[in-house]
Amino acid sequence: MSHLDPERLALVAVGEALTDAEQQHLATCDACSLELAELEHTVAVGRSTVTLGELETPPERVWDRILDEVRSQPEAAASGIPIDVPVVSSPAVAENQPDQRRTRGRGRMLFALAASIAVVLAIAGVWTFVRTQQPVEIASATLDAFPDHPDAVGTAEVIELSDGERTLTVSIDDFDESDGFREVWLITADASDLVSLGELDGKKGTFVVPADVDLRDFVLVDVSQEPRDGNPAHSGDSIVRGQLEFS
Ligand SMILES: [Zn+2]
Repeated sequence: MSHLDPERLALVAVGEALTDAEQQHLATCDACSLELAELEHTVAVGRSTVTLGELETPPERVWDRILDEVRSQPEAAASGIPIDVPVVSSPAVAENQPDQRRTRGRGRMLFALAASIAVVLAIAGVWTFVRTQQPVEIASATLDAFPDHPDAVGTAEVIELSDGERTLTVSIDDFDESDGFREVWLITADASDLVSLGELDGKKGTFVVPADVDLRDFVLVDVSQEPRDGNPAHSGDSIVRGQLEFS
């Protein structure tokens, strides 16, 4: 059996499954095993670099070099770039060997090319994934106590996810001595409009900000003490309130 296709090895190194025949060949062929091991190592290095975070976009010159290599391929093959032809020792070898060597030499170039592309794509792909999934803090607020709740203190943080959804996380630290429950609100600066985000269970809660709420208008974050009276309106008994500062 001839050696394994270098392009196949490159794909295997980035995660494709081996066929039975390929597995058998690898078990007996040191050259292919070594090639695969080297490639797997390269891919592993590429991936481990990604987990370090803070990766830059691959520099232009990396792509340029790959493009140069791709462009030079057909010419190189056509112009018969020097390939070291083995000393012919028997007629049988004379028939087979040069062809095989040429395939091998060209395969090596393709293999190197595939390897560099695979690593660059792996890095770029994971980098893009990490970057776009990263939630971004877009605003925060310090929540100050109202006179009736002098010991209360709180914070609010608005996070935007990759799909544009915004969440508001409110933390409040005070003694919850009263009956009823606490409710989180967004209020306009002039208090002409407000929207309830829901009940705050415990000292910390995360709420989805409705898509149609413009936080530049609803800049005040408010936590109120609410009686269980079935009235959905704000009780007027605010515990803490603060204005969002945008990052
Ligand atoms: Zn082999």
